[in-house]
Amino acid sequence: MCLFCKIANHQQKADIVYEDEQIIAFKDIKPITPVHILIISKKHISSITEIKEEDINLFGKMIFVAKKIADDSGLSEKGYKLLFRVKKYGGQEVEHVHLHLIGGGMLYEDIHSTGKEVK
Ligand code: AMP
Ligand code: ZN
Repeated sequence: MCLFCKIANHQQKADIVYEDEQIIAFKDIKPITPVHILIISKKHISSITEIKEEDINLFGKMIFVAKKIADDSGLSEKGYKLLFRVKKYGGQEVEHVHLHLIGGGMLYEDIHSTGKEVK
């Protein structure tokens, strides 16, 4: 079982901020901003590349949960970012789909291509 499946099954400790039948959200262990929450599906899906048509509602709900947590965290007036990293080139490290909610200040963005390994 992967790390985030263990968190979803309460077999691994996490600071949980939201839970329902399909989704669980918890604080990132290494926050990069004052508010940094991960919203995950309880169902194991390794990456966005693996989602199927049957998952459309689940992902809509994940975004809605992120919006509600952002509201409750006082982020909604000034704004925040929602981020999915996708596999190696996208910088994804944990192979269980997760939506980052990051905010709590004006965010600096430095996304660029290294130009390495481009096919
Ligand atoms: P990514 O690079 O998009 O795959 O993001 C993985 C995120 O998971 C990173 O921001 C990590 O800090 C976070 N993370 C890893 N292990 C844990 C954990 N046990 N509890 C909470 N967050 C974690
Ligand atoms: Zn998993």
